[in-house]
Amino acid sequence: MATPHLLASAAIGRGLQRRPLLAVATAFAFHFVLDATPHLDSNDLFGSPAGFTGLEVGIAIVDFVLACVLIGLLIRGRAWWKMALWGAFSGIVLDLVDTIPPVGPWFVAWRGTAWLNRLHHGIQPDVPSDQLLLGFGTQAVVIAVSAWFLLRRDRDQEK
Ligand SMILES: [Zn+2]
Repeated sequence: MATPHLLASAAIGRGLQRRPLLAVATAFAFHFVLDATPHLDSNDLFGSPAGFTGLEVGIAIVDFVLACVLIGLLIRGRAWWKMALWGAFSGIVLDLVDTIPPVGPWFVAWRGTAWLNRLHHGIQPDVPSDQLLLGFGTQAVVIAVSAWFLLRRDRDQEK
């Protein structure tokens, strides 16, 4: 799911707003942490070994769009909104370049990036698709904690 990735890395962007490079690097690295956490994706539930299915892609797009709307609402009018967006982008970019054509197939195949793709998919635990509590519970916690962090009031030095 894109929502936990986007929200958590937006929160990282806020938390490290004074160190932009560190924020971007941490958000990118945190993608791997979340992927290594047990979770279920639309790919696990509706995907097929033969390639993308319509339902899988549709749900992935709805997930992504809803996450963007939610982030927009959470960061609107905040002083650090740009860093939150940079964080969110850094935290999701790997899933985007990995899948979306025309970059996706190239990213997966080219030697310079194929290792990153293998690493990215190698760390994801296999959660059986009927383990919904495990598959979505971890993501619900990440979403809740990240939203709480983004909603926190600014301390004075953040303004
Ligand atoms: Zn990923």
